[in-house]
Amino acid sequence: DPRINGIKTKIRVVPDFPKKGIMFQDITTVLLDPKAFKDTIDLFVERYRDKNISVVAGIEARGFLFGPPIALAIGAKFVPLRKPKKLPGETIFEEYELEYGNDRLEMHVGAVEAGDRALVVDDLIATGGTLCAAINLLERVGAEVVECACVIELPELKVCCREI
Ligand code: IMP
Repeated sequence: DPRINGIKTKIRVVPDFPKKGIMFQDITTVLLDPKAFKDTIDLFVERYRDKNISVVAGIEARGFLFGPPIALAIGAKFVPLRKPKKLPGETIFEEYELEYGNDRLEMHVGAVEAGDRALVVDDLIATGGTLCAAINLLERVGAEVVECACVIELPELKVCCREI
């Protein structure tokens, strides 16, 4: 699809951010270009609109930029999966490993129900650890994760705790 190359050209790569040796893939420059941003959302909507998805779960923070427009367009609810202590209601959480230490994702109890068909959205997949935590959270409440959608895949980092 020719739109994919157009989107690629709008992703800014920032060397040595947030620390030396990391080539940070910055999607904020995609958002600055209304056509590239719309093409990104459209590509996902075209893929998911007929898949009977009832919930789009967005991962903090950049999954909050792409998830809601996709959810609105396909007629699904949007549920934020947040970093610790941000959600005011009762939550469940999943922990996942970072390069140094652990982090966790939290979700409001009752936001996703058994039988929901879920799409997980984030900006980027590296090791897949974050997406795995999201999948585990959704499956624990009885949802079926139909697919995970990311704008960027880092192909050199294909290590994952499970098949996704
Ligand atoms: P993973 O858990 O190793 O797959 O890392 C993916 C998570 O780290 C996502 O939530 C991304 O937003 C974030 N991340 C890692 N590297 C980058 C990057 O280069 N740009 C933007 N986000 C990144």
